[in-house]
Amino acid sequence: MTKIAQHYINGEWRGAAAKANENPSDLATPVGDSAQADTADLDEAIDAAKLAFSSWSAASPQVRHDILDKAGSLVLERQKQLGEILSSEEGKTLAEGIGESARAGQILKFFAGEALRLTGERVASTRPGVDVEITREPIGVVGLITPWNFPIAIPAWKLAPAIAFGNTVVLKPAELTPATAAALVAILEEAGLPKGVLNLVLGKGSIVGQAMVDSSDINAISFTGSVPTGRGIAAACAGRGKAVQCEMGGKNPMVVLADADIDVAVAACLNGAFFSTGQRCTASSRLIVERSIHDEFVAKLTAAMGKLVVGHALDASTQIGPVVDAGQFDKDRAYVEGAKADGAEVFGGDAVEAATKGHFMAPALAINTTPDMKINREEVFGPVASTIIADDYDHALAIANDTEFGLSSGICTTSLAKSRHFMRHAQAGMVMVNLPTAGVDPHVPFGGRKASSFGPREQGSYARHFYTTVKTGYVG
Ligand code: ADP
Repeated sequence: MTKIAQHYINGEWRGAAAKANENPSDLATPVGDSAQADTADLDEAIDAAKLAFSSWSAASPQVRHDILDKAGSLVLERQKQLGEILSSEEGKTLAEGIGESARAGQILKFFAGEALRLTGERVASTRPGVDVEITREPIGVVGLITPWNFPIAIPAWKLAPAIAFGNTVVLKPAELTPATAAALVAILEEAGLPKGVLNLVLGKGSIVGQAMVDSSDINAISFTGSVPTGRGIAAACAGRGKAVQCEMGGKNPMVVLADADIDVAVAACLNGAFFSTGQRCTASSRLIVERSIHDEFVAKLTAAMGKLVVGHALDASTQIGPVVDAGQFDKDRAYVEGAKADGAEVFGGDAVEAATKGHFMAPALAINTTPDMKINREEVFGPVASTIIADDYDHALAIANDTEFGLSSGICTTSLAKSRHFMRHAQAGMVMVNLPTAGVDPHVPFGGRKASSFGPREQGSYARHFYTTVKTGYVG
């Protein structure tokens, strides 16, 4: 029987199969089918969330804690099963899919605790005999629009704080990963979340996502995805007086200085650039290497790249899964060919044949490129990186910051002074020293600067800045 990922609206699963859910590792064997919502389905989901808000916003934080904590435990227990669903429809390796699922469980548990940790402030008034109290309240109905590349972690890190702080939710996951979102929502249902608190609507961004942004009954939108879509959403929300938070792209630099431990640098770049098939907004895509070690670095990195096993996501020997779909595959290949046309020498980047027909591509490194080349200006979102030669540390820092993006920025060095200087001067929301630019902790803020992010940070205790609104009370 074909599996159907359905909508979950007001506590009911519904929707007929309307779209095949492709398996990028094996195009002959789809993962299942997915329902596709129209705006009438969305309206019902919004109505359910509105109705549930009065009781959920008044629910004891202990109740919210217990449900999120139980959901976290269930996700952790079922991480293998969830990882299989995730890796089947998204294409990251099973180890990565299981790891991401476990992360979602930890996130649910962290925000279970946050429900109990929400505090206010009491301060002295400037007027005698008056008390001032600052409290935080839920915003209302929150619309969550999520991408395909972290199909369980990103929905979890948005819906967990939303629910923890008493909001109700309409979640619209990416078209390519409906089954993972449905599996996560089913676990929250099993954990006892009352009907209407969390609603799942599957469908197209241009229809359902846009209607969420336009709805006057959704009070805030949290979005993760591409820059053009995010910019459009931010502008539309501003025009409607709606709170908005957008996490968008990256073109993350990794500086490798001559004094770096070269094996540490190669390992960090291999992981940061190519793991998860390079489909991470925090991927290291510009490897900025000091001239004196550039050739040695390239020799070691390409040797390591050549050993990476590209293949079916569920095959235990696979290190790099397929690209998510045909459109992204063509885009990645076009960037590789474009870099060659711009004069770069490229290692790898070819289509790979495997036992099954899928979107397999060998990781690509464009060698000795210049900062102005298209491959160094635009986010690729695939297993593609480039090297740029820097004359010295100052030159490397200038190249690192020469981008419209500012999500994550890395440096490999054994110099304390240079690492501290870089941490201070990198124009990015996250800075990594001797670590890949990708790979973050769940309990600390996540987000960037410049074109990468808009609005308050996600995750950790900072999530409350978006998912609550402040009230200042005066008592005479
Ligand atoms: P990607 O290239 O990663 O798919 P998108 O920005 O296109 O990035 O998609 C991210 C999420 O935004 C997806 O859930 C998608 O359906 C949704 N989306 C796309 N277009 C719109 C839109 N106009 N309004 C709201 N959501 C949208």
